[in-house]
This record gives sequence, C-alpha cells and structure tokens, in this order.
Amino acid sequence: MKLFGSSGIRGLANKEISVDLVINIGEVLGTLHKRVVIGHDPRTSSNLVLHALTSGLLSTGCEVFLAGMVATPTLGNAARNFDCGVMITASHNPPEYNGIKFINPDGSGFNVKQMREVEENMAQKRSRPVKWDSIKNTVSYKNAVEEHIQKILGSVNEIKLKVVVDCGCGAASNITPYLFRRLGCKVLSLNCQPDGFFPGRNSEPTNENLKSLMKAVVSNGADLGIAHDGDGDRMVAVDEKGNYVGGDSLLSLFAMHEVKKSIVVPVNASMAVDKVVGSAKIIRTKVGDVFVSEMIKKHNADFGGEPSGTWIFPSQSLCPDGILAAARLAELVCKEPLSFQISALPKYPRKKGTIKCPNDRKIPVLETVKKHLKTFDYRELSTQDGLRIQFDHSWALVRPSGTEPKIRITVEADEKEEAKSIYDNIYELVKGCVSQ
Ligand code: MG
Repeated sequence: MKLFGSSGIRGLANKEISVDLVINIGEVLGTLHKRVVIGHDPRTSSNLVLHALTSGLLSTGCEVFLAGMVATPTLGNAARNFDCGVMITASHNPPEYNGIKFINPDGSGFNVKQMREVEENMAQKRSRPVKWDSIKNTVSYKNAVEEHIQKILGSVNEIKLKVVVDCGCGAASNITPYLFRRLGCKVLSLNCQPDGFFPGRNSEPTNENLKSLMKAVVSNGADLGIAHDGDGDRMVAVDEKGNYVGGDSLLSLFAMHEVKKSIVVPVNASMAVDKVVGSAKIIRTKVGDVFVSEMIKKHNADFGGEPSGTWIFPSQSLCPDGILAAARLAELVCKEPLSFQISALPKYPRKKGTIKCPNDRKIPVLETVKKHLKTFDYRELSTQDGLRIQFDHSWALVRPSGTEPKIRITVEADEKEEAKSIYDNIYELVKGCVSQ
C-alpha cells in the first residue's frame, strides 16, 4: 500500500482522505509515538480530519496536544517538544483537498523509511487499542504561534519597511502580519483572514496568482510584498516596483547570503546557484522539501531551498519556514531595494516543455532515453530524480510529472540558442522513445 507522496498524504477531503483512513493513521501513529502535537490549516475539512486523527491517536493511549490553526513551520517549531508533530493541510492544493504531513522533533518531514513504516503498519493493522482507564485527554497547546514569533525575533534585526503581506487566506494569516509589525514594519495585509474557501486567490503563490499583491505594493508605495502558500511553508516575494520575485531568484539571493560551506538544492534548481556560491559545495537532491531536509542533516549544510519557494534554515529548524524566510528577506531589503538585488543576480535562459506519456510507460521510456544519451557529450548524469544531464555550460532535466501523464523537459544554458538546440535534441529523443 503506497499512501504517501513526497510530502505526506494528500487527496480529496472526505473522499480519498476519508474519516476511516484518518482514524487508522491515528491508530498506527499512536502506537509509534506517545506524545503528539497536531496543527491544522483553515480548510473546511481540517476540523473533520483533526477529530478523526485525534480519536485514532487517543485510542492507543497517546497524549494529544492541540496547537490549533497554525502554519506548518509554526507546528514544525512546536514539534521539538514532542515525539512527533502532525500538520493537517494540503499545502497549496485547491480548497477541496486535504492531507497530513508528519514532522520529526527537529522539524524535518518523515523520510521515506518512516513513511513506509506507517504504511506497513496500516496494511498489517498493527495498532493497539488501550483499555478504558489508559485513555488520555487532549491538551490545548496555545503557545505555538508566540513561540515561533519569539524564535524569529531572536534571530532577525529590527526592520523599518512598509510591507504588504498576502497569506492567501491560509494558515500564515495568524503569524506573518503580526510578526512583521513586531519587527518594526508598517504592515498592510491582503487575504489575511483565514478562510477555507481561499476566496482571495489560488493558494499556490505563482506569478499569475499574485496580481493583487503586485498592485497593492505599487499603489501603497511599499518596499516589499510577501506571499505564502496555504500552510506557510513557502514564501515568494514582490519587489518595490511590483515585479514578481519567484523561487529561482530568491534561491540565488538566499544562497549568496546564507551559504559558506554547502547548500542543498533539488535537481531542478538554476545553475545561477553554482555561480553565486563560488567554491561552496552544492548538493543536489530529489525534488521535495523532505529530501532537502534529509540531505541538509546528512551533510550538515548551511542552507537548503527549492525553486518552488521552500526555504530551510537549519540553524533554526529543518522545517521549511516561509515565515522566517520572509523576515530574512526583509532584513536584506533594508540594505538595498529588492529590485536592485535581483537585477544583480546571474540569470540564464531556460527552455521548458512537456511530452505526453502514459503513467505506466514513464519508467521504461526514461530507461530507453538513458541508453540513448550516450551519444550526447555530457559531463555527468544523475538519475536520482528523472535524468539530470550536466554539460559544460548547461544542464537538462528529463523528469516524469508526479501528477499528470507527461514527461517534463527543462534545459538551462549560458546562451539562448544553446538552450534551444539542446532542448530540441532531447525533445526529439524523448518523443522517439515514447512512440516506440
Ligand atoms: Mg506548503
């Protein structure tokens, strides 16, 4: 039984994420961990999932602490006081979804081994209901937000900026605007009323979804715009001119300031990171914050981040923290306008595209593509997540989509023509292999 994706369990609420399934997850988790803290995002189904999960956990004699509606990094910070943290959220998915993320005391998500353990125990129905006199009560854990704020205040200097914060009506609504005010900023909040229908905008903080934030930054003469996804583990920005500053640019910017010895990035990160970190070591891993945290831990890296907008500052926590990242970014913006800093970063032309491929053909197609790559004059080939082909001044990634019947191709190079030429060659190769 494979329940877990790269970021816990996710699916349609009250359908794929059914009450029975969630009770069962609670029963199994409660036999593995004795003190568990739970948080949830504002989705309409989160309360339902919370109660089912709590029942399952309590049935095993587990002590359950309820942190309430909090952002994932807030719960990640609270988890340090417990055996395990559980966050009820479907992150940036549409409102009809929900899910569960499992968090270790150090803030990292459950790794593949831990996820398989839960799955196996569920398949074998390995749960132990306790007798009536061993059932515990739930305990309210009200300090999670304040503790997270205090932790960030302790690591970030005073910030005198005008900032527009757009939480997309998600879980960060109860922390980011308040944190920024306490840091010394003038704060204008947009979509900061928690609402499980996400009425303000789609939950994923993409360029297309942040038009209101861009307008608000310009019309209010703000220095910075901050946007989160539904559970606040992601953060992207808008500069003082109203331009979207996405994950790739922020990854280079943070890498420049946070990295001394080593950084962990996924296989789809821009080679601009190589440029800005100089001689520091770059460790590339599978796409997904769980894998990034795991590698940070393994290599004792200074920082890890993904182009999707997840940022991990291991000196604070191994949980991706969009709230802390927002404060760190604002600290940088105090020194120089964000648009200046972004324009100074290296940028490389990219070409991206997809080829249709049935899900059950993806792995054989990739195997065939790999065999044919021998004709390409590449420097290095990595197979940890799709095929990442490193050339002297460019790279290409051939990676099956995790959610759609497609194979994605991304090429980045020094020159536009080179990116196009490599892309065309790889596109023809993959297309040929799909139609074989
Ligand atoms: Mg998220």
